[in-house]
Amino acid sequence: MVQLSCKNVTMTYENTVALKDVSFEVQAGDYLCIVGENGSGKSTLIKGILGLTPVKSGTIAFSGGVSRDEIGYLPQQTEIQRNFPASVYEVVLSGCLNRMKRHPFYGKSQRQWAMDNLKRLGIEQIKNKSYQDLSGGQQQRVLLARALCATEKMLLLDEPITGLDPIVSGELYEIIGQLNRQSSVTILMVSHDVSCAVKYATKILHLSAGVSFFGDVKDYLESDV
Ligand code: ADP
Ligand code: ADP
Repeated sequence: MVQLSCKNVTMTYENTVALKDVSFEVQAGDYLCIVGENGSGKSTLIKGILGLTPVKSGTIAFSGGVSRDEIGYLPQQTEIQRNFPASVYEVVLSGCLNRMKRHPFYGKSQRQWAMDNLKRLGIEQIKNKSYQDLSGGQQQRVLLARALCATEKMLLLDEPITGLDPIVSGELYEIIGQLNRQSSVTILMVSHDVSCAVKYATKILHLSAGVSFFGDVKDYLESDV
């Protein structure tokens, strides 16, 4: 079942073509890693999918029971606002806000829903701590719990592993993999780390302004991209 379909998407900033004629599809249950050099258009594509930046031509369409306001988004560390809510609990709760408008929480209150996701990520015992005081790995768990408050269907993760040590990175990959396999959450992850991308993902989108590869990991490994 197709959940997201990008057809011939071109996106530009004043004089720069950031993304050129990009087409790919995401199926329910996919774990897609988006890779490519700096400046290849990964962040621009994410902003297009989220509807934060308009596309110049082509279409980005949702289907299969997913809509744009049901995507759970984990932004890049550099885009986290300094005025982020104080406590871990409040950060996670803030993920409920978009969702509340249209989608029920299975009869639960926002508070219960936020607590469920704190437990799911194993961080309920630090819920009253300040987000700013946490380690990088704990912060990413908090942001994952926040993203999960918005969705059970699709997570968009922009470089969630950057700057973390190998053990903490491994734990996060494990959690993301479990969400994908056990909870059937579709994962779209931007990653600098191609060796991890091919280890954990099932599909690869390799950008260099346009698409230089899209398909299964095993075919990517056999290609010369
Ligand atoms: P990546 O995330 O893969 O590093 P980006 O999507 O950030 O790539 O950038 C793609 C291209 O668009 C680059 O040439 C970059 O300099 C340019 N670009 C990105 N954001 C802007 C912006 N806000 N204004 C102008 N050019 C931009
Ligand atoms: P990434 O780590 O994804 O490559 P960048 O460091 O390229 O991200 O960009 C960080 C932010 O700066 C993004 O929001 C992007 O849109 C913006 N940006 C990137 N390139 C330019 C540019 N040439 N002009 C203005 N803004 C840019």
